[in-house]
Amino acid sequence: MSVTNGVKRKHDESSKDEKHATKRQRLLPSRRALPIWKRASDIRQSLQQHNVLVLSGETGSGKSTQVPQFLLDCAWCRGKIAVTQPRRVAAISLARRVAEEMGTPCGSSSPASKVGYSVRFDESTSPSTRVKFLTEGMLLQEMLRDENMKEYSCIIVDEVHERSVNVDLILGFLKRLVQKRRSTKRPLKVVVMSATADVDSLTKFFESSNRGSAAVNDIHTSSDDIRKRSLDADESIDSADAVSRCYVEGRQYPVKLEYLGTPTDDLLEAALHRIFHIHCKEPMPGDILVFMTGQEAIQSLQKLAEEYAEGLTKEYPRILVLPLFAALPQSSQQRIFQPAPLNTRKVILSTNIAETSVTVPGVRFVVDTGKAKMKQFRNRLGLDSLLIKQISKSSADQRKGRAGREFPGQCYRLYTEDSYNKLENDNTPEILRCDMSEALLKMKARGIEDVMNFPFLTSPPREALEKALLQLLQLGALEEDGSISAIGRQLARLPLTPSLGRVIFEASRPERNCLPEVIDIASCLSVESIFLNVDTEEIREQAQIARGQLLRRQGDHLTLLAAVQAYAAERSDRRQWAERHLISHRAMQSVMDVRKQLTAQCRAANLLKGLTTQEASTAPDEGKQEQILKCFLRGFSGNVARLCPDHSYKTFVGNQTVAIHPSSVLFGRKLEAILYNEFVFTNKAYARGVSAIQVRWLEEVLEA
Ligand code: ADP
Repeated sequence: MSVTNGVKRKHDESSKDEKHATKRQRLLPSRRALPIWKRASDIRQSLQQHNVLVLSGETGSGKSTQVPQFLLDCAWCRGKIAVTQPRRVAAISLARRVAEEMGTPCGSSSPASKVGYSVRFDESTSPSTRVKFLTEGMLLQEMLRDENMKEYSCIIVDEVHERSVNVDLILGFLKRLVQKRRSTKRPLKVVVMSATADVDSLTKFFESSNRGSAAVNDIHTSSDDIRKRSLDADESIDSADAVSRCYVEGRQYPVKLEYLGTPTDDLLEAALHRIFHIHCKEPMPGDILVFMTGQEAIQSLQKLAEEYAEGLTKEYPRILVLPLFAALPQSSQQRIFQPAPLNTRKVILSTNIAETSVTVPGVRFVVDTGKAKMKQFRNRLGLDSLLIKQISKSSADQRKGRAGREFPGQCYRLYTEDSYNKLENDNTPEILRCDMSEALLKMKARGIEDVMNFPFLTSPPREALEKALLQLLQLGALEEDGSISAIGRQLARLPLTPSLGRVIFEASRPERNCLPEVIDIASCLSVESIFLNVDTEEIREQAQIARGQLLRRQGDHLTLLAAVQAYAAERSDRRQWAERHLISHRAMQSVMDVRKQLTAQCRAANLLKGLTTQEASTAPDEGKQEQILKCFLRGFSGNVARLCPDHSYKTFVGNQTVAIHPSSVLFGRKLEAILYNEFVFTNKAYARGVSAIQVRWLEEVLEA
């Protein structure tokens, strides 16, 4: 029996190997056709000689998928290669693609898998992993665990043009690490990749670590030239210290551009109209990519488009609407890359992910709303908020470029040419516009005491750094002297913002004793919204009835808890349950994933161990409800507003008027004070994720 089993297993394994090898062969011609393929030996050679390479190239030229494969068999590359991505969707899909191209299983599916990924709440690697795609946040976490990054021979920082705070931090850390490892037996190689050609600042940034010498090496320049140049400058410089640069041209077909004649303020309607105009009037096959602001707008448009498509006669091809946003569950991501079924046109509704981060194949038409959701630090309020903002010219041009990757295409801008001309040229780096507390905590945890003098690619405003230090102090993450506290160390290791981390930490204290419940709520907050959009009065009423038993008068936090608990308890058909309650089944699946991972992380951090009572989340009695809200108040004490005599809510910090968002269960209610998770500014200032609190709780919570 065991012999036959063994034979069968061997047979299964070898047939799997064959399948992988066939796939690898099948993908080889398209890889060879990528523009970057011609530069493979240049890239290898330049990293043979130098430690840092700045590589710029058009989106789709093959940087993310090919560069790690080019470097794997270089003599210096004995360890792993890390490739960072700003978004989890991109990290996972790239890992899968590269695994296929290399003919190896992906992630933790087999101990022999050479390619894996690590994203927040999901690590999928094997003992044989050589190439690891990971989000920037996860690389930072690894840097906290091993400050020398010994496992890695090479770190590739991708999508640098997006200039997230995390990228800026990573570059600062790497600049020091390259120096530290340069004279060891295993120097660290760094590749910085960008979709825009502006690489001067990056080159200068890395140069300045090289004992102040300016040594730039364009890829065809030999190391002898460099040596000569530096000797001329009367300074001896090791060629490994020079930063080499390479530019890869992309393939770009012409794209016809069309603007609106007059501006519109109903982008949803305009996008819907444009999609069906293309679909019904354009004889040319090809998919449509629509750039929207965020998950909510995408889901509304998806619903409208699907309803509209049902009314089309049979003479038209079918339409398959696919959403693409950061919080999308893994299972839905891969559909974007699959070709549309026969006689069907794909319509992909995406956030700015599809701008450069994820290359969607088959697109001929781009519809651009010209807007994106961006994090913005609102100094008076002292917190980040998500604002819908105009994109920059460079983003608009990237979006347009998505239409001309495989064939000549068309781009419809849902704004006027005049508005385009008034756009900013480039995106402002995130570090200049958002809260720095998470970044500062990571720096402190990595032993950087003097954060004011850290080598930032762009220095954040001093005021923002001071504010962040103050917030960390208030959260108990720093000691009075500015050094990191024991709590701070714990928070730095949790994959959450310091505020949410502090909520979790608070919930683990014996006197609060509500960690499982708080994990449930925190998991919900990690997805944009579990509730399907209810934008009309009529649907809102329907939703109220459908979600009746889940709604809690204390507010959104406890309502979310009730929803998670009811969903988790549902044993027969969770999808049906979600539909009945107008809740997104997909979002709930993500919530359950996050809940599992977060529980494991809390257990690993010994936060769950100290609990004397139950470890599973249960329906809270009144006393526990209060404890749960107090935990949130501990982490978000800056997000409190009180009711004023004129019946408006005013924030404690900044004294700003804020209204309860219509998506909240407390919408329209007048309460003594409210606590909220998020401040959003659309046509006016809204608080989202709101619960009722008592003002006197604040004192108790902050004293503890
Ligand atoms: P770049 O990093 O320069 O933007 P990529 O390496 O991401 O380029 O993409 C190169 C090619 O690989 C593109 O043609 C893209 O369509 C294809 N590709 C990338 N990821 C996937 C995937 N998950 N599935 C199918 N094709 C993919």
